[in-house]
Amino acid sequence: MTHQEFSREFIRLEVLFNEGRTLEAARRNEYYDALRYYDPADLTAAVNFIARRFHPVYNERFPSIATVMEAIFSIKEASLQPFDAEPEIDPGALDFCQRCHNRGFYLGEDDVAHPCACEKGRLCRAAWSVPIHDPDRQAKIQAALDRLPPSSGPVRGLQEKVKGVWQDTDDEHGRKCVALQLRYELMRRRRKRQEEAGAIEQVGDAGTDEALEAISEARHSADDDVPF
Ligand SMILES: [Zn+2]
Repeated sequence: MTHQEFSREFIRLEVLFNEGRTLEAARRNEYYDALRYYDPADLTAAVNFIARRFHPVYNERFPSIATVMEAIFSIKEASLQPFDAEPEIDPGALDFCQRCHNRGFYLGEDDVAHPCACEKGRLCRAAWSVPIHDPDRQAKIQAALDRLPPSSGPVRGLQEKVKGVWQDTDDEHGRKCVALQLRYELMRRRRKRQEEAGAIEQVGDAGTDEALEAISEARHSADDDVPF
């Protein structure tokens, strides 16, 4: 705000709390320095706020810089709009996609978002490369949609609850469990070897023989206890 805009509002504070006298120039400038980057409307609102709420006390006869700033912050905070809540989706509905929750994208095990095979996923894929301000956006999206294979409908299957990643079938889920157990087994062996050697080694890849052995062992134990 300009000095003039500042003065116009600040005079009101001086009228109310300084018996109409102007503050000494240096002190006034401190206020201007603190407030100059705010919108004049913010200062107007703050002065209105202070005029109604401020009680002069012994050690603060005139509203301090902190009081004015606090007024600006509390007004701004009160005017913030809450974010729009996500629309509620019925997970039991026929068009509810369990893989992407009708968002069009789902999190893969590589920790990367992938477009889904459902209708919403198709739409996301088609719209992905069309800039948002393109005047022919709708037509381009429609053309891209025509090129994509038809939707296979909402995806239903299994979701790994711990990491939130998607696995289509029980078989796939089983394979993932075995692979995880194998990884843990290799880690345990390395740790044991290091402890036996009594030295801390850099963790490297295990030898092929050892890996194969661990795979068969992990398969065995996977049959009776699946931790996930
Ligand atoms: Zn989907």
